[in-house]
Amino acid sequence: MSAPLLCVTVTAPTTAELRRRRDEIDHADLIELRLDSVADPNAAAALAGRRRPVIVTCRPTWEGGHFTGSEEERKRVLADALALGAEYVDLEWRARFDDLIAACAGRGVILSSHDFDGVPADLPTRMAAMRSTGAEVVKIAAKMNTLADCVPLLALGAHEQRHGGVVVLGMGESGLATRVLAHRFGSMWTYAGRLRDIGHPDVSTLLGDYRFRSISEATEVYGLVAGSVTHSVSTAMHNAAFRAAHRDAVYLPFRAASADDFMTFGRALGIKGASVTIPHKVALFDRMDEVYAVARRIGAINTIRVGDDGRWVGANTDASGFLEPLRDRVPLTGLRTAILGAGGAARAVAVALASSGAAVRIHARDRAKADATAGFVSAEVGPWPPAAGTWDLLINCTPIGMYPRVDETPLPADQLTGRYVYDLIYNPTVTRLLREAADAGCQTIGGLDMLVAQAHEQFQWWTGSKAPAGVMREAALKRLAEFARHEDYVV
Ligand code: NAP
Repeated sequence: MSAPLLCVTVTAPTTAELRRRRDEIDHADLIELRLDSVADPNAAAALAGRRRPVIVTCRPTWEGGHFTGSEEERKRVLADALALGAEYVDLEWRARFDDLIAACAGRGVILSSHDFDGVPADLPTRMAAMRSTGAEVVKIAAKMNTLADCVPLLALGAHEQRHGGVVVLGMGESGLATRVLAHRFGSMWTYAGRLRDIGHPDVSTLLGDYRFRSISEATEVYGLVAGSVTHSVSTAMHNAAFRAAHRDAVYLPFRAASADDFMTFGRALGIKGASVTIPHKVALFDRMDEVYAVARRIGAINTIRVGDDGRWVGANTDASGFLEPLRDRVPLTGLRTAILGAGGAARAVAVALASSGAAVRIHARDRAKADATAGFVSAEVGPWPPAAGTWDLLINCTPIGMYPRVDETPLPADQLTGRYVYDLIYNPTVTRLLREAADAGCQTIGGLDMLVAQAHEQFQWWTGSKAPAGVMREAALKRLAEFARHEDYVV
């Protein structure tokens, strides 16, 4: 199969604006002109002066578009586009414009079907019916409610590409893999652009972060398994490292509905590894064929590697990632440490500190949770918040002070009497706690150091090579700066 093309979709309120936006686009192999977004659709005006191949689409409201006129008017616009030599015209299967398809013997026709609720039950028979019309390309787009919804599209694309042109697309956040990995899904092209509500990836992310042009069936697939992946720093870090190391690999955000949802998807796609975050760290632990000792001690995994033998192995790089910035800087043996919080990160930090010979005390607002976390490593439990003079190293493992609530801090400035303060929060990179600790004369460490260190370890475990120096940190800082410019930032 030849490399899938990139089609960029353009919408605009007027034809003049549509043409202007069309001509601004770089890097696309095809441009989809959404005439249904224009107040007065006119194929000739939209096609005039085009410099790249186009798909002309005039989607009616009943198929998720904006065209509200009659079917006769719509058909006329599409027939004009075909007569004027548009490279492709998108006709909805449900429209039954069979005479248009017959008139051009199917050449240049994309016959499309869109399901906005989920994967249709009749997928194979529908595809066969669509194929029987003689259309040059058949396109199936369906809403992916889960990652596992992508699996039937994988099988369908693989089958259909042997019979003719095909494009299969998963709409919504969970469908991202179908778009980026178009090669594996058998698609002739992928769509990108500004239609975020149906899951269009942005062109610069597709070409820059995910290196769409160099993805093939052989490209290794990694990703971040999470409950919410709206803005991920890990995707920026790992993709930058793969690029710098010239590794044929891509790292994608995977929003999983459950551990089993990800396992079904990951197995079908043949993923090579993943980072794991809230809320799947414990549930995926239980699905692994093998779990390394540190992860077993913590009771959670944050990394998966799938071996060539197909075995899924879980590990936890949070503990060693946490220790890395302390190495050669803070002698831990006998050090009095106070951990704020009793969640997943606190547990990894407690295991790391206890195994390094530090005296560990857990401080959490919920005494029962503090007791449970302390029990993992036989640590002590102290009051919330910790009293001044009772610690040498304080570690914030709560989200207090994280964006957007950057004015908050877990401890008043006059209580910062120890020697070192380590905040796991990396957004912002310098929290109020760290600022006040530095003012009080403490040495400080921010969460970005840990984030980068644990990602380096993941990279090395997956690839067998060290991550290129400085690349992940630079990518993380760049991504955090981008987030800060967007008001819609969601942590
Ligand atoms: P988690 O499992 O949800 O645990 C959060 C802990 O903070 C819980 O003990 C929670 O107490 C406590 N907490 C939350 N809000 C609080 C408040 N207002 N006052 C007192 N305690 C509060 O989260 P996590 O995975 O451990 O992550 C914790 C932080 O570490 C996050 O900011 C995360 O971004 C950061 N982190 C950073 C890295 C890195 O690489 N730098 C890695 C992992 C985590 P309750 O249970 O009572 O709610």
